[in-house]
Amino acid sequence: MEDDRPEMTTPSCTLFNIQRFSTEDGPGIRTTLFFKGCPLTCTWCHNPEGIDAEPQVLWQRAICMACGDCAATCERGAIRIGEDGVRIDRAVCRACGRCVDACPTGALERVGKEYDADALIVEVLKDRTFYETSGGGVTLSGGEPLMQHAFLTAFLPRCQDEDLHVALDTSGFARGDWLEAVLPLVDLVLFDLKLIRPEDHERLTGVPLDKVLGNLDRVVAAGLPVWVRTPVIPGCTDDEENLRGIAEHLRTRVGTLERYDLLAFSNLCTSKYEMLGRSFDLAAEPLLAPATMERLAGVVRDEGIEMVRWSGPTRASAKDEEVGDITLA
Ligand code: SF4
Ligand code: SF4
Repeated sequence: MEDDRPEMTTPSCTLFNIQRFSTEDGPGIRTTLFFKGCPLTCTWCHNPEGIDAEPQVLWQRAICMACGDCAATCERGAIRIGEDGVRIDRAVCRACGRCVDACPTGALERVGKEYDADALIVEVLKDRTFYETSGGGVTLSGGEPLMQHAFLTAFLPRCQDEDLHVALDTSGFARGDWLEAVLPLVDLVLFDLKLIRPEDHERLTGVPLDKVLGNLDRVVAAGLPVWVRTPVIPGCTDDEENLRGIAEHLRTRVGTLERYDLLAFSNLCTSKYEMLGRSFDLAAEPLLAPATMERLAGVVRDEGIEMVRWSGPTRASAKDEEVGDITLA
């Protein structure tokens, strides 16, 4: 299949965030670049503002005074003020940002900013001293950064020229040739592997597992170190059989595995869904208990993956949880 998107002569990217001083996205202190656009449809998505490839406007109920200035400013008639607050018709909105400028309280925010390679390298070099003292660097995250592969192949040589350590954080779902064009330009891959049963993967992420596993093979064949990550989502990815299956795949197929991370479910993204005018199916789902995460890490360890670790927000008390055969420290 050919890429039918028009070729850009000066590729630029669209980011929805630049997070400085990140310590969760690879070794050392890092600057994480969040690329906008993702082909997956995971119900637990923690960055819903990263799903749509185009810029969007967020609305914050708590600081809106329902003055109507935004609706009066929008030439497209995309905003209505109702009993439920501001409603943005996203099929009509073009994210021009006029309403954002007109809002007197800052309740509207435009997410999605374009950078070319010159501008972005200036941004990431601002924290060079921290990378050098901590063994850190730059992480490409999202969204799915490989969706903006044309930009990456222009930007990453600039990072190499500056001797920056680069980590690619990917869902693994992208064209193989896009991934292969980027792999020689990165030092580490953070690879999401959420579900190991093909039918579950397709049902819960919207994309087929075989393409993801094929790309994991490509990363290993390139000889790159890989940190695999599994979000532990209640009722979706947290059954022991799933984690055993993933662990077996890692043990038998991923020879360059350096680390395996279980990431505890977080509902801190609920407000972002509301700001986008969307509902979050897992909003009422409680956080997991530390004992649950310990138990699941133990399951993985029993399958021979000793380097497993877990992180993320958890409930303060584990009193009501089954601890299994793992003793809490
Ligand atoms: S961003 Fe522009 S098009 Fe969208 S609602 Fe605001 S003023 Fe209207
Ligand atoms: S302009 Fe701002 S404060 Fe006024 S209704 Fe729109 S979002 Fe709310």
